[in-house]
Amino acid sequence: MSKGIYITTPLYYVNADPHIGHAYTQIAADVLARYHRSRGRKVFFLTGTDEHGQKVQKAAAEKNLSPKRHTDGMAEKFKDLWTKLNISNDGFIRTTDEKHKKTVKRLLKELYKKGDIQKRSYTGWYCVPDERFWKEKDLEDGKCPDCGREVEKIEEENYFFLMSGYQSKLIKYIEENPDYIMPGIRRNEVLGFLNNNELDDLCISRPKSRLSWGISLPFDNNYVTYVWFDALINYYSATEYIAPEGISWWPATCHLIGKDILTTHSVYWSTMLMALDMPLPEKIFAHGWWTMTGEKMSKSLGNVINPLELIKKWSVDSFRYFLLRQVTFGMDGNFSKEQFKSRYETDLANELGNLLNRVLSMINKYNPLYSVGNPDGFDKQVDELYSDLDELYGDLKFNKVLDRIWEIVKAANIYIEEQKPWELNKNGEKNRLAEVLTNLFEALKNIAVMLSPFMPETSVKIKKQMGVSDQKSSDIKWCPEDSFKNIREPVPLFPKN
Ligand SMILES: [Zn+2]
Repeated sequence: MSKGIYITTPLYYVNADPHIGHAYTQIAADVLARYHRSRGRKVFFLTGTDEHGQKVQKAAAEKNLSPKRHTDGMAEKFKDLWTKLNISNDGFIRTTDEKHKKTVKRLLKELYKKGDIQKRSYTGWYCVPDERFWKEKDLEDGKCPDCGREVEKIEEENYFFLMSGYQSKLIKYIEENPDYIMPGIRRNEVLGFLNNNELDDLCISRPKSRLSWGISLPFDNNYVTYVWFDALINYYSATEYIAPEGISWWPATCHLIGKDILTTHSVYWSTMLMALDMPLPEKIFAHGWWTMTGEKMSKSLGNVINPLELIKKWSVDSFRYFLLRQVTFGMDGNFSKEQFKSRYETDLANELGNLLNRVLSMINKYNPLYSVGNPDGFDKQVDELYSDLDELYGDLKFNKVLDRIWEIVKAANIYIEEQKPWELNKNGEKNRLAEVLTNLFEALKNIAVMLSPFMPETSVKIKKQMGVSDQKSSDIKWCPEDSFKNIREPVPLFPKN
């Protein structure tokens, strides 16, 4: 069976509405998926919702809904936002799917049989909102070291996944596979943690007396599965019942996550797979956060950016473009409406939009022949970028791809100023005029193709106005269209706002 490209986002937890952080991961994963599809590769792009656990049970109770009703409504909210952001996911998994639950139970049983899960009595300090146990020594001023809230002392019997036994194997794996956790700063963080701390075993059960909303342990009906243990398995379970058949999808090509869930993925999920003798994903990429004037966005600070408001005012494509152009993927970024506006007006309206407008207007006005002559370096610039794309996308260097595309946009604008087609026309230099406008036309066509993963709607608009077919990037070469005959009157791509 051939191996497909399998890209995942985290399963978003349905205790609160979607925000810009969710949108960011989603757009990045979408760009990656669209890129690989455009090169003719088989892609499975999965997203979904994480629906079990205490916080969901609580959020449902606060709304006087059953957890099921609450999660149904939340899953729709996420799906709705993904449609509005033009997200092309191939699958949407919900951890309440019967088939997912079945896989979770099967894998739990397997680990239990192997002796990797054991029942123990346990005393710990429990943070309800975080659904996490802490040891006495971890507490800060008697409170949860993660969120600073009150913790409860709980003594109970629970099931533990013997994660500690995989510590040295995991360290070795990360050291031998430098691209496993990216970017490097996150990899070093995980290695630093693993080299300086003794890994604990992971409590993977919750007594039903305390929490009923979860997947029952297959070997003890008095407990449900810890929500993270259940949720992480989605990446694999989806390949069994959602992904297209006939292609091998596991291991995943890339798990895209936010840096706040690095430990659960790089440590919990990796060791779970090791214990199950399953291959680890090829890459875990943890991106940074968007902040407002340096503060993390949060509901309580009242500085949350609503993606829907932005796309209503500025268009989906400009939002997608801004998020991936503004900062290096992996680092934190500061979100400012001024910077957004400036990217819109400068990069999009002036540089790209005007380029299309000028080129089409001149072709309409001067009516030149389509003439491939000296490409004046544009062919080389396009070819070089095209051959670098796999590597750039492989390292998720989205802003580098956009920088390189913009080098061509800028070069084309400068070329117009230097070649002065209006003078060529006035002086009757028909052949050179045809050559120059053909070069600009071909450059624009390739820009449109390479932009399509980032700005799918804009790419289609450009190609429509140019009257060229909807090409895949696998078709990219400096090849002639037969004529300018299908060109339309230019329409501004990014109207003034
Ligand atoms: Zn906490």
